[in-house]
Amino acid sequence: MRQEDFNPEQTGKRIILSRSYTGGDRFMLQLFQDSMAIVRQFGRPSLFVTFTANPKWEEITAEFLPGQTAVDRPDLVARVFHLKQQLLLQEIKRKQIFGRYLGSVWTIEYQKRGLPHMHLLIFLHPDDRFLTAERIDEIVYAGLPDPATDPTGELNAIIKSCMVHGPCGEANMRSPCMASKENGGPTSCSKRYPKAYQSETVVQEDGYLKFVVWEKMT
Ligand SMILES: [Zn+2]
Repeated sequence: MRQEDFNPEQTGKRIILSRSYTGGDRFMLQLFQDSMAIVRQFGRPSLFVTFTANPKWEEITAEFLPGQTAVDRPDLVARVFHLKQQLLLQEIKRKQIFGRYLGSVWTIEYQKRGLPHMHLLIFLHPDDRFLTAERIDEIVYAGLPDPATDPTGELNAIIKSCMVHGPCGEANMRSPCMASKENGGPTSCSKRYPKAYQSETVVQEDGYLKFVVWEKMT
């Protein structure tokens, strides 16, 4: 065929991928519509939970070949994450650790260094929602455990390595939270740390919370 006779409209064949094709347009649209149907049925979700893979999980590190780290083994990380995610869902659905379970919706994403994490919305029975300070305190609080209840210091170490923000501010101006979008350069933490200790949970007018942060657990 000469080049001037070439008509792009006559090449190829249009194929519409069915909703059973994972990741396709119709597949994603169906997931979205299912999610909206769940909200119509049960109302707004009660909890937003994030769950992240930890490259130091024993199940992962035990299987490394000499010299490997988690970035070398996305296969392992994905499998271990999936098993732990299923376990967490079981705790929520069967053991009902947050209250009477009605439904859930989640997505799994991969972060920069290949660690999967889940964003999970949980729908609970209306009477089990977390709307008051007392109810919230049953599941959320921050602080380092008393050495008496954590004699080996294992829990202490986990909290310090996974749950503590910073150091940032003057102690570390290169912390990611110090990158400022406005002019004038980085001057303060974008997450507003350090924060004051808080002895009581307060539900603020805008719906945001001030959680309990103990100076010392008693
Ligand atoms: Zn910070």
